[in-house]
Amino acid sequence: MKEILDNPLEQYQEIESKTAKNENKKEKWTAKIRKALSIFIATGLVTLSADPVLDSKIYFNENHIGKFIEYTGEDNEIKQLEMEYRLKELCEKYSVNIVGFLKTADEGARENREKEKGPLKVEGFESLGIFNEDLKEMWDETYPKNALNEVSRVAYISKSKQNVGDYNISGQMMAAGTNILSNEITFFKSLEGHSKKKDIIGTADWFFSHELGHMNDWAHTDNLTPEERIEFLQEVTQSFLMEGSFRDVLGYVDSINNPDQQKQLFYKVGEYWAGLCEYYFTFPDIQFNSLETALIEKWLLKGEKFDNLAMKEKRVGYVKKMLETNYYDKK
Ligand SMILES: [Zn+2]
Repeated sequence: MKEILDNPLEQYQEIESKTAKNENKKEKWTAKIRKALSIFIATGLVTLSADPVLDSKIYFNENHIGKFIEYTGEDNEIKQLEMEYRLKELCEKYSVNIVGFLKTADEGARENREKEKGPLKVEGFESLGIFNEDLKEMWDETYPKNALNEVSRVAYISKSKQNVGDYNISGQMMAAGTNILSNEITFFKSLEGHSKKKDIIGTADWFFSHELGHMNDWAHTDNLTPEERIEFLQEVTQSFLMEGSFRDVLGYVDSINNPDQQKQLFYKVGEYWAGLCEYYFTFPDIQFNSLETALIEKWLLKGEKFDNLAMKEKRVGYVKKMLETNYYDKK
């Protein structure tokens, strides 16, 4: 989820001074974000949420650590102990429900792995005057293959979607969300708030980079073992709790508010991860700390070689090309 706060610029300035280290880069980055921020405010949005269906399952599952280890089929005693240690730590942070949550996620992923996944489908953007094939080509050619592999379809629907309440942000509508069962990213009506095609494409791509992060988290990623899900969530949680860890410029992550502290941490860490991915792709000048960079390489890129700066530039080229083509002529 993502939200416009009362004075995002002021909050942003405070955060930027903590995050950017190199002065030149900082200036460049500042200008870019400011520009992008004005686009955000113009839409009046909003939230970018992970799948609420899966979120709610966390509270309906009461499986225990032993059962989970049994489920993994791991028979090496040392590895079992390591898993137990990690799970205990996760239970302390998120309650015992986290065990059931990760098991449910893994079962869903097993089913997904059996389905045939064709090439990425992009649909519905023609109602915004954008050629679906152009967006598809841009995303196919400028995002890492391993991360894209987790997405089967990206769709725009011209309908508003009310925000789900668990984040307790005063936001109104959802801008985009993910569906874990079908590996889909859906954009909702907010994009229509832009009058310029350039802003529509820019915002769509920005949101896509955030949702792609959710699609590649400990719950959504299809190609992970149950052990890896535990390790992934534990590592990102530790990184989030470290002093000086990255925060988005809108103060979005820290604005998430839930009376249940464990639930609140769970949502914040989920959005922190999606935010890392979002800024890595969309604002490649930003510098994360070394642990965060390592997390991106390990869990988002999964060993793939990827130049986020060059790919962002390439994406800007695709946008230019799209602006030169008149959709209605091309159709
Ligand atoms: Zn999100």
